Amino acid sequence: MSLRYKKIAVKIGSNVLTRADGTLDITRMSALVDQISLLHKKGVELVMISSGAVASGRSVLGIHKKMDVVDQRQLYSAVGQAKLINHYYDLFREQGIVVGQVLTTKENFGSRRHYLNQRNCMRVMLENNVIPIVNENDTISVSELMFTDNDELSGFIASMMDMQALVILSNIDGIYNGSPADPESKVILRIEKEQDISDFIQNSNSTFGRGGMLTKTAIARKIADQGIEVIIANGKRDNILLQLLDKKSEVVSTHFVASTSEVSSVKKWIAHSEGFAKGEIHVNENAAKALTGDAAVSLLPVGAIKIVGDFEKDDIVKIIDANGHSLGVGKVQYDSGKAREMLGKKNQKPLVHCDYLYLE
Ligand code: GLU
Repeated sequence: MSLRYKKIAVKIGSNVLTRADGTLDITRMSALVDQISLLHKKGVELVMISSGAVASGRSVLGIHKKMDVVDQRQLYSAVGQAKLINHYYDLFREQGIVVGQVLTTKENFGSRRHYLNQRNCMRVMLENNVIPIVNENDTISVSELMFTDNDELSGFIASMMDMQALVILSNIDGIYNGSPADPESKVILRIEKEQDISDFIQNSNSTFGRGGMLTKTAIARKIADQGIEVIIANGKRDNILLQLLDKKSEVVSTHFVASTSEVSSVKKWIAHSEGFAKGEIHVNENAAKALTGDAAVSLLPVGAIKIVGDFEKDDIVKIIDANGHSLGVGKVQYDSGKAREMLGKKNQKPLVHCDYLYLE
């Protein structure tokens, strides 16, 4: 088998892992574990992002009384994650493979130190032939700071671990050019970099997970822009992963074609840091034009017109144009006080150096 990719992140959605009644579908889990094991034995470096904790906890406890949503999430995920990882552990052990659990929160991606610490943990696991199985730590995630869903989390992970491809397994074949229920609709097989598909997307959420097609598409695009191939495929289809990775095989799925431009590791982190921005730098029209042009340029004080918020040197800030539109994010070289003093001045060092600027 000649492989398409050597380093992949595989996200498995709750709907792939659960039956219609909400219980864990062990047969499906086992089939996916078999495929992942085979790829692992062929030398593919793999990180799994698996949902299903909340769904499986809910089905174990079968509580029918009314409960606060946060209480529910915390209780179900605490119980369900233990169940989920136990199953994975046993299934992989039958294949002679060791897996480890990584639970994270969005806040862990906010500071560069936590980010690198987390990356190191997963690197060490991979170097020692251990497959990391990642999930959001729903027991301690604070609602406002949670990942939109595990699709977003899988994008963060694929980018952080410099994967060649991210495979998002859901319970449909990919993104359709109409309603998936309509027999006339077809799966869009390839989505190129600039292609606008917003008219096609239906945001019907899956039954057991948090993710919908809209977020899947937004994440897929962002990750593909960082040079990582993204594939959305049906995890309920037999041998789907093997077929996706086998160069000789074609299988129905939606493939977001990766951009060929190199994105540095720091930029990849900055790309995901928007939610942690401490302030804003507003820029004039000329600066906006220069920043969004083809050349890599830094954001200079002369092009800045307003500073919003209080931030420290090295914090993440949003870059906003004169019409109030966000252009991207960057790591700022001065605190907000100093940045205010420098506003509009010529011949100064950049507020944000181009190596630390991520434009949308
Ligand atoms: N972290 C959640 C779980 O394991 C899933 C979130 C999602 O559905 O995307 O149950």
